[in-house]
Amino acid sequence: MNFLAEKKRLVIKIGSALLVDPSKGAVRQEWLETLCEDIHAAHRAGQEIIIVSSGAVALARHQMGPHRSRLKLGEKQALASIGQIGIAHAWQQAFKRHNLTIGQLLLTPEDTEDRQRHLNARRTLESILRLRALPVINENDVIATEALRFGDNDRLAARITQMIGADTLILFSDIDGLYTADPRTTPTATHIPRVQELTDEIMSLGGDAPPGDSSGGMRTKLLAAQITTRAGSDMIITRGDRPHPLAALQSGALHTHFLAHDEVGSARKRWIASTLHPEGTITLDAGAVDALHKGASLLSVGITDIEGDFDDGAVVTLSTPSHKILGRGLTDHSADDIRLMLISQATEHHSQEHHNSTVIIHRNNLSLD
Ligand code: GLU
Repeated sequence: MNFLAEKKRLVIKIGSALLVDPSKGAVRQEWLETLCEDIHAAHRAGQEIIIVSSGAVALARHQMGPHRSRLKLGEKQALASIGQIGIAHAWQQAFKRHNLTIGQLLLTPEDTEDRQRHLNARRTLESILRLRALPVINENDVIATEALRFGDNDRLAARITQMIGADTLILFSDIDGLYTADPRTTPTATHIPRVQELTDEIMSLGGDAPPGDSSGGMRTKLLAAQITTRAGSDMIITRGDRPHPLAALQSGALHTHFLAHDEVGSARKRWIASTLHPEGTITLDAGAVDALHKGASLLSVGITDIEGDFDDGAVVTLSTPSHKILGRGLTDHSADDIRLMLISQATEHHSQEHHNSTVIIHRNNLSLD
């Protein structure tokens, strides 16, 4: 029984520690071939598979000889540039005997966070899938700067899942899911098979990556789960460090399943909900909170406070009077413009003049939690 058989689109993320053997400074080609056999079978059965592959820095780091364990940004970028060729080649070779073609995409956060570039990347991905080729994606580490990089492919894979509306994101890792504590240090830790809601308690289980080539850790995986489930897709964490890891998962290998939110609205709303970094916060009065829940747009009269410095078109967090997060929205006005409106509204209020209220966030651009 393959419990993933009904899923049309799957995003599969492979971490550096799985793909690269540090003792040899090479890709684990035999293991990769077993994974590609599984992917070939899923592809033949009509599923669409998108691969997010790490490993560029790890591969070059072990190929280029002695190195410090903490690399400077420029060194990391140079290694990414060298290693990416090997990573792409390894995937190409592994799929060749199945006559499958790959297409490479290297993306930076701007390519997922800017709406136009996001749509552009989505179009390219859709076209690759229509050709029945397999997209192989990594962060464009060569040009991504420290301030503006994903840094881990868990969140990149989550953003890709949202971008193309995939059903499920599978994170292949060196651990078979989420535990009540870190099982490497706490022997009594128990496995959590299903997560319906990402409560504060669940989010607090996220730890850092173990030493070695991994960039993520449970923390980035839980952040990825937030992005993915808000976008209406499921996410799975399971072990990848065995032959045929996808076939093992399909037949029920231990994993944690994060369930998608039910009501996620349009593709545009899903994009807003899963933005990585909202650029500011708008606080609403109680009346506006109520109106938004009833489906209204956000008007300037309902705003009591504003934080941050953003342009029109930015995604901002919406907060209730008691500072609870209400959701997110794509604003039609810059922070400066909204501040001016608030000042003139306050003046009008004192002089009891009738004032016009402006739509700050249209209801089609609101995504409530
Ligand atoms: N993009 C990085 C690389 O290919 C890896 C990031 C990660 O491990 O999540 O080396």
